[in-house]
Formats: sequence, structure tokens, C-alpha cells
Amino acid sequence: MARRRTQADPGDDEALLRAMAQALEPWFAEAQRDMPWRRTRDPYAIWVSEIMLQQTRVDTVLRHYDGFLERFPSVAALAAADEQAVLQQWSGLGYYRRARLLHRGARDVVERFAGALPRTAEELRSIPGVGEYTAGAIASIAFDRPEPLVDGNVARVLSRVEGIDDPKQQLATARRHWQRVAGVLRHGTPRVLAQALMELGATVCTPRSPRCPACPLRSRCEARRRGVQEEIPAPRKKAEQPVSWWHALAVTWRGRLLLVRRPDEGLLADLWCLPLVPTAAPERIDGPALDSGFSVPPRWAEAPLPEVRHVFTHRIWQMAPVLGRSSRKPEWSEAPAERQCLIAPGERPPGGLPRVTTKLLERVGFAAP
Ligand code: SF4
Repeated sequence: MARRRTQADPGDDEALLRAMAQALEPWFAEAQRDMPWRRTRDPYAIWVSEIMLQQTRVDTVLRHYDGFLERFPSVAALAAADEQAVLQQWSGLGYYRRARLLHRGARDVVERFAGALPRTAEELRSIPGVGEYTAGAIASIAFDRPEPLVDGNVARVLSRVEGIDDPKQQLATARRHWQRVAGVLRHGTPRVLAQALMELGATVCTPRSPRCPACPLRSRCEARRRGVQEEIPAPRKKAEQPVSWWHALAVTWRGRLLLVRRPDEGLLADLWCLPLVPTAAPERIDGPALDSGFSVPPRWAEAPLPEVRHVFTHRIWQMAPVLGRSSRKPEWSEAPAERQCLIAPGERPPGGLPRVTTKLLERVGFAAP
């Protein structure tokens, strides 16, 4: 019976790690995609890219990366900015908590490190919002240090190369993966190898239909040898997502639309949205229930517009927009006056505009052309 990689002796392990490094470097030089964050060694720019790329598609990040760096070209510039300006610039990227932490992190770097990011993963991890993965990414990519980083892509590559069957050991949190990546990085140029592992997972060793014939690790890959590359990692059960129903109030006055900034805790904290009222019957307008939030009740349309659905990580919102016309400047009693604004069609509020609001604005005819 073939000996499993996971039981190999230290000499074999070292040989595998060296062979991986030797195969990955030339492959990456040939195959890497051209990305703006790969044309820089500025640790701040790399930090920004790593935060944006978490949970967000590359094409979306490409649309926002340059604009963010133009507006906040350095740690000091980001630290000096107002949080609402940061959230506004983050609009379209989602998961706004990342923007808040990046902002807080920049202030910390100015205070404790005079605006220059530290070089070691340990020091980097002491910055708000910089976890183990981001610290490893900045230390390896910007400072060329053999500090490991494991995300979902890297974990998948390693799990397949080593033929790991245990679902728990396939996760990005598995300590074995971190040790293995550190081992690979020691055998070459950390900056190149860290990116190569991520790039391989993103473009070749993909979750479904990995392109094994094009893979630089194919001759070393246990999953490929056993023909189980599609079974590793094991599929995970999706948690059920609860659904909430809302009426989204699209109240206009003199051709402008009321938006409110949500409370600073909870889902969509501090971001701009239409006033939302929970409902059990989205297809019916309960005028008195909607009126109660306004000192001068608007004139409501007879029926809601078609629903807008938004899927968050752990829940789903189903929203029925209700058009209302106000005879006076509208004010919604559920939000303080300074957290309300009126926008013209296509205009943006002075802060973060989450995707859920963009969808609602499209539905009520106020989206940017
Ligand atoms: S050979 Fe296939 S399964 Fe193995 S690492 Fe390469 S792409 Fe992934």
C-alpha cells in the first residue's frame, strides 16, 4: 500500500516543501495575473489590497482599489480621514466592518509606529483588524519574510497536495497548513511563493474542476494520484439563513428622497439606507403603521413595488419598497435628525452606501445612471 504523505518522515517532508517552492516560483513568474497590488512593494497598499480581497471578488476590488489609494494614499492620510469619508469610499465593496477596522488600524500605526507598518507578523498582529492571515500576507509580500499565510485557496491546495481526508485538517485554521506554508516559503523568495500559493488556488486548483494538467505541483499531488481532487476539501453544510421581511420607505419631497444613517451597532451599522419597517405582510401596505414614524404622514402609493432580496452572510432580507410623497420636508422619528438626508436621483449620501441600498435605489428610480 502506498505510504500516505501525512505519515512521511521529516526528510521526505523537507524534500516535498523544497520541490513545491522550486515548482511554484517559475510557474508564478509565467502565469500570474497582472494586478495593481502586484506592481508595488508599499506595505500600506498591500495591506489595503489584502483587506479588500477578503470576502470580495477580484473584479470588484479592481474597480475600487485605485480610487481608494488616490483618496487615501498613505497610512497618515487614511488615519487623518473622517470615518464617514472612509465608508463612502468603501461603497461597493461590502463588509464595511473591514473599512472601519482598516481606518482604526491606520490610526494605530500612526500612533504607535509613526505611520510605518512594522515588519514582523507578530507586531503586525497587534494592529486592530490585522489577523493572522493579513499579518502573514503583509510580512511575506511586502517585507519578503518567511511568515506564513493560509486562506481558503491555500488550504485547498495543501489539502489536495497532501491528500488530507480529515475535514477539520482541511480548514485554513489547521496548524499543519501554517507550518507547511512556512516551510515552503523558507525554500525560496517568500514574497513570490506566498502569492504563488494563493494564485494557484484561485486560478488552477479551484474548488470545482481543478486544472491539474496545468498545475506545477501535479507530479507531487496526492489527491491527483488518487483521483480524489474533487472530493477534497469535503463539502460543508450550509447553515440555514433566516429571512426577515421589511417595508422600505421611499419618501420623496420636491423630487428628493429621504435616506437615514442606520444605528452604529448591528447589521449595516452607520451606513445609509431607506427607512425600514418590519412587516409580516410585504404585499400589503399598512398605512397607519408606516405613518407613525412621520409627524406629517406622506401620501403612500396603493401597492408596494416588486420586492428586493438581499442575501447577507447569515441572513436574508426581503424588502418591499413603498413609495410615499411628503407635503413637508420629511423627518423619520426612528433616526436622529443629523442622521437623515435628502438626495436627488443619482446623488450619493455623505457616507457608506451598501449594496442593499443601491438595489433599493435602483428599484425606486434614484440610482446613479
Ligand atoms: S494537481 Fe490538481 S488537485 Fe493537485 S494541487 Fe494541482 S490543481 Fe490541485
